[in-house]
Amino acid sequence: MNCLFCRIIAGEIPSNKVYEDERVLAFRDISPQAPTHILIIPKEHYDSVLEAPADTVAYMVDIAKKLAVQEGVDKNGFRLVINTGDEGGQSVKHLHLHLIGGRSMQWPPG
Ligand code: 5GP
Ligand code: ZN
Repeated sequence: MNCLFCRIIAGEIPSNKVYEDERVLAFRDISPQAPTHILIIPKEHYDSVLEAPADTVAYMVDIAKKLAVQEGVDKNGFRLVINTGDEGGQSVKHLHLHLIGGRSMQWPPG
């Protein structure tokens, strides 16, 4: 298995888990861009959002909303990001949803 996030799911690489169920795993980003920076990933491998069924993506968003409340960033606001492909800045080719919050953010991003 050469997918980094599949290896995290398998427990071969440690992660700072914040949520897990039969469908998804959520853990803190190793290089946080904000006080809250969590990655929500499906346990089934999809290279990107392009390959994933809509219900999987919807489920990931639903979990992200719950984690936003749990992290206390729901009131002030947060960002959900799915980087896709090279120009989209996707560095890990296993679908992941970034939950980023806890500081003011600018739009558009760099
Ligand atoms: P991408 O750029 O593909 O949208 O996001 C990949 C994210 O995965 C980056 O924010 C990066 O910091 C994070 N990341 C890369 N390797 C690891 C790791 O081994 N553990 C954790 N927790 N995060 C990682
Ligand atoms: Zn994978």
